[in-house]
Amino acid sequence: MVNDALLKDVEDELGRGPWRLRFANHVEAHFEADTQRQRSRNMVAAGLISALIYSLFLVNDFSFRPDAFTTAVALRAGVMLPVGLSILWWVYRGVSPPVREILMASTVICATVISCVIFASSTAPYSYLDVFSFGLILVVGNIVYPLRFGYALVSSALSILIASAFVVTYDPMPTEAKRLAIFTLLANAVFTLVANYRLERSERLSYLHVLREKLRTGNYLKDNEVLSQLSLTDPLTNLANRRQFDVEFATRWREAVEKNTWIGLMVIDIDHFKAYNDHYGHPQGDDCLRQVANAMRLHSRSADLVVRFGGEEFVVLMAEASPEAAEPAAERIRCCIEALQIANAGLSSGAVVTVSVGVAVLPPAMGMTADDILSHADQALYQAKRLGRNRIWMTNPADDSTEDDATGGSDSAYQ
Ligand code: GH3
Ligand code: MG
Ligand code: MG
Repeated sequence: MVNDALLKDVEDELGRGPWRLRFANHVEAHFEADTQRQRSRNMVAAGLISALIYSLFLVNDFSFRPDAFTTAVALRAGVMLPVGLSILWWVYRGVSPPVREILMASTVICATVISCVIFASSTAPYSYLDVFSFGLILVVGNIVYPLRFGYALVSSALSILIASAFVVTYDPMPTEAKRLAIFTLLANAVFTLVANYRLERSERLSYLHVLREKLRTGNYLKDNEVLSQLSLTDPLTNLANRRQFDVEFATRWREAVEKNTWIGLMVIDIDHFKAYNDHYGHPQGDDCLRQVANAMRLHSRSADLVVRFGGEEFVVLMAEASPEAAEPAAERIRCCIEALQIANAGLSSGAVVTVSVGVAVLPPAMGMTADDILSHADQALYQAKRLGRNRIWMTNPADDSTEDDATGGSDSAYQ
């Protein structure tokens, strides 16, 4: 349900006007949650590179304005670097999205102010040339970080205001150069803001597309899971159905062959169920089937697969079976059904619903097929029925004497 609502919101976002950047609150929260960590890291990496380059401009200060070199060292290395690194550390540790953007935008403004102060403190003839490098600060904020568009816009506007105010009042600079410097700065702002907008737009669009695919795949898998669960379950009793048995039996058979372990099967049939149905009617017959199924589920081990094989016949596929363990397990099933004390007046007054159980346990290494063990268990069930019902009959397929003579060989009956 949650996924469906989000998927609809994502599709709405994809259908909105192409100029919009910020998503609706719900989707924006997902966007931030999914991208925040990586975005902070990327910004910090970009910030470190920018801090290095900003400090390297000291070489420029040394050659163009030796008179202000001490000031430049003090401001670049003593102010901008520690302030910048502290901000990066803060962002790296994790702050809310608006604080992250404001902190990173403040480095752009800070760098502009500090550059102005450095240039202003020199009277060297070519010092003004560096004014043309102001554009680099905008490149950092709008493209290298890049700030979210709104913050990029505001920080660019502030930087231009500060730099233009400086240029206009900076006497050593010729008027023509001032005009060119301001024009270059404005053009730089426009270009980098266009690029910034496009970057953010495509980042957001790809996020929406990826999220939509993820949500669709999730729903698809969920639907598939429900469908395959339905197709493997018996609707009346909620037990595994014949199809699930076939799949599971083949797997367990293979495993037993590989590991050379025993495999065991119980075939369980309700006694005189036709009489019960005829007497109480089909709906109550169904109810009886559900009670019997529940009791079998409760009285078998969790690793065993209890299956409604068809009609009033069930199968228990036993994990890691052994003849010693299978006998009491089958007896437990027989007992628990009898203990339900469901009257079967269709048979006789005082009669209750019971089951007969045929059990076969064998090591697959004997060279039998999966079908062999099923038919052995069926034959054992037939014996249990023949000997009076409400009993278990266990056959040892290693000894084929049960094939013709139900009472002979090493088979054993319990009641
Ligand atoms: P036996 O002890 O030899 O097993 O006798 P039986 O009466 O149980 O066996 P028989 O095969 O003659 O009858 C099985 C009956 O099970 C027939 C049918 O009415 C009933 N039955 C099979 N499937 C369902 C079902 O889904 N719901 C209901 N209510 N009855 C079912
Ligand atoms: Mg029956
Ligand atoms: Mg039957």
